[in-house]
Amino acid sequence: MRIDTLEILRCPFCGGRLELVESIFHRRTAAEIGDGVLACECCTFPVVDGIPVMHLQANANDARAHVEDGRPDFALRAMVGLERPEDAERFEAAAQSETSTFRDIVESLGPGFEGGYFLYRFSDPTFVVAQAVVGAVAGAVLGGAAAGANRRAIDVCGGSGHLTRSLLEVSSPAPVLADLYFAKLWLARRFTAPGCEPVCCDGNGALPFARGAFGYAMCSDAFMFIWTKRPFIGELCRLVDGPQTPGTVLVTHTHNQLVWSPSHGNPLTPKGYANLFETRPVRTFGEAGLFRDVVAGGPLDLSRVDDAATLDTDAALTLIATPDARVFAPHPMTVDAAPRGVFRVNPLYQASTDGTTMRLRLKFPDVDYEYEYGACRQYLPEETTIDVAALKRLEAGGAIDELSDLIRRRVIIDLPRHYY
Ligand SMILES: [Zn+2]
Repeated sequence: MRIDTLEILRCPFCGGRLELVESIFHRRTAAEIGDGVLACECCTFPVVDGIPVMHLQANANDARAHVEDGRPDFALRAMVGLERPEDAERFEAAAQSETSTFRDIVESLGPGFEGGYFLYRFSDPTFVVAQAVVGAVAGAVLGGAAAGANRRAIDVCGGSGHLTRSLLEVSSPAPVLADLYFAKLWLARRFTAPGCEPVCCDGNGALPFARGAFGYAMCSDAFMFIWTKRPFIGELCRLVDGPQTPGTVLVTHTHNQLVWSPSHGNPLTPKGYANLFETRPVRTFGEAGLFRDVVAGGPLDLSRVDDAATLDTDAALTLIATPDARVFAPHPMTVDAAPRGVFRVNPLYQASTDGTTMRLRLKFPDVDYEYEYGACRQYLPEETTIDVAALKRLEAGGAIDELSDLIRRRVIIDLPRHYY
């Protein structure tokens, strides 16, 4: 972790500042803390492999004891949840190899790790809507010279950082990624959102940050799994409560209690969600309308006002609380001219080639994926072809022109380096 992150980090229990305990085992440089113990007036918390662990669950206590014993390697094992030595050694071998991919490390974490459909995340319908909304909202409130004084973003319950990646260019300093699952944060920092500042914490309690530390706070595809919804929204609002103007809170893809959906969670009704924001104005959008905008290639129209009937019949909702009127407008969707990582063929396609033409056929990993994410058929064609020479030029850093339509349709996607 960066030393200057201590400026915004606070104990979730006493609200006090944290400092590194210099009298016991630690590894640090002038700018970063690798391993050590942080202390406030009430608690101590470990820093494990550069990630502060700001909760008191059993694994965190074990990790802290290992750090105090001068065994940061055992602390890392405790936090990634590998207890048997052979499992831990498999992870460590994968982690220490520079050629390991995101997929290799997920596999080394074993079937107990919720890897799920991570490989297909960048083109699933939930993600493409969230990515468009995040790009529009964060771009409007954080990007450019017209932005307010605080341009830092936080992604709460951001998992392995697929959406945090979208914040890397607009957040300054680098975005914070907060999640309870240490292994996901570790993967995000290495692969999906390199440069982000990961913090391990529990979204069901007070978030370990100072009031007003951020200009933008978001939670995507996770809020229906948070039981303590009222304090959680209160915390997101506190995090963006700046001295002059409040910042922006965005919740994307939270399920609707009135419409069943797979992995339903504990959702509220549209009215119930709006009620959580109390005195802060919030605008609620049905995801279906936003999805139609994305499939059409934009613009993403956040000037729309969805009526109660539209909201009540949509399976997923987006909530935006911001005083910044620039958000509630149509936002053009453009294909980036250069990838953040590397352009590659979407792993949902089976490919065959005669050397000149690559033939692609859409193939879902299983029926469950198709059931939950089959709406991707609205932009992913069943079959298509790519000129092999054009693909090679693109992969070598050439212009996107020839293949921009396939990029827009997500047949070719911009993936992190060493993703699979
Ligand atoms: Zn404390």
